[in-house]
Amino acid sequence: MTLTPVDPLPSREVRVRAPGKVNLSLRVGPRDHTGYHPLVTVFQAVSVYEEVVAVPADGMVITASGLQAEAVPTDGSNLAAKAARLLAERVGVTDGVHLHLVKGVPVAGGMAGGSADAAAALVACDALWGTGLSRDELLDLAAQLGSDVPFVLTGHTAVGSGRGHLLTPAMSRGEFHWAFAVRDRGLSTPEVFAAFDELNRGVPHAADAAADVPLMQALRAGDPSALGAALHNDLEPAALELAPDLAEPLAVAQDAGALGVVVSGSGPTVAALARSRQHALVIAAAFTAAGVADRVLTAMGPVPGARVVGSE
Ligand code: ATP
Repeated sequence: MTLTPVDPLPSREVRVRAPGKVNLSLRVGPRDHTGYHPLVTVFQAVSVYEEVVAVPADGMVITASGLQAEAVPTDGSNLAAKAARLLAERVGVTDGVHLHLVKGVPVAGGMAGGSADAAAALVACDALWGTGLSRDELLDLAAQLGSDVPFVLTGHTAVGSGRGHLLTPAMSRGEFHWAFAVRDRGLSTPEVFAAFDELNRGVPHAADAAADVPLMQALRAGDPSALGAALHNDLEPAALELAPDLAEPLAVAQDAGALGVVVSGSGPTVAALARSRQHALVIAAAFTAAGVADRVLTAMGPVPGARVVGSE
């Protein structure tokens, strides 16, 4: 029997890591005429990572492994696929790519897991295809993919406004340690915003950055106690309305001495700020012991944004 050799695709591989985020503060204004809510948010990138491995392929292939990978779409609706397609169109590349996502950020958990995949896919395909785009051009593509994508591309600490996509870097000193209570069943971001609209009907509210002065001071001073006291999320009552048992991990974290505790983004992940790495482990153990989380994570922040961690 003769075997016909098949032309192998080039074996080049690019690995990119992108962080999840926690919103230290999230302030939401009333829905505007385009249907979006103006936001002011303070993001911190945390050491819970998505990894995207890009290799040349025929067409677009998405696979996923890791945390809750079975909940991730592998068709064209995947944010990583959208990112690769947008970049290919922008630079006129017709090559295919296989993107393998190693999930570390909870799916639909309010920690920007899909956005991290999109940012990582942009950086990976940019390197694979040698597009020569500038960082600003990549940021522009990121903003077209979703309001959290520019931040996870950039990382560290930043204030987001508009839909969260207009970023201003923020000064932050030292390390902050977190414990996260994760739910297997996510909350839909549009449903949380709809519940927010219901709760705030007829109540004057605005996305006001001035309210975050104490939080920004806490970050500059590297003061975890002051940061804990300043954590804030306008969406938390809406998330609690949709998932009332989220009150349990919030209470458990407080009992375990958390410096502050907040629902992350649109939830349902609950983020507890700890005094130290050891204290974060204690809070995580308290979540587990009380049975108030499907899984727990610990992490520190701030960390850098999406970047190449391996290439061959
Ligand atoms: P955010 O914090 O930005 O609101 P999130 O972390 O709450 O986002 P994601 O994990 O990004 O939520 O997923 C939201 C939905 O998007 C999922 O339920 C899933 O159907 C879809 N999705 C598309 N691409 C991805 C991806 N690469 N990873 C996870 N979910 C994805």
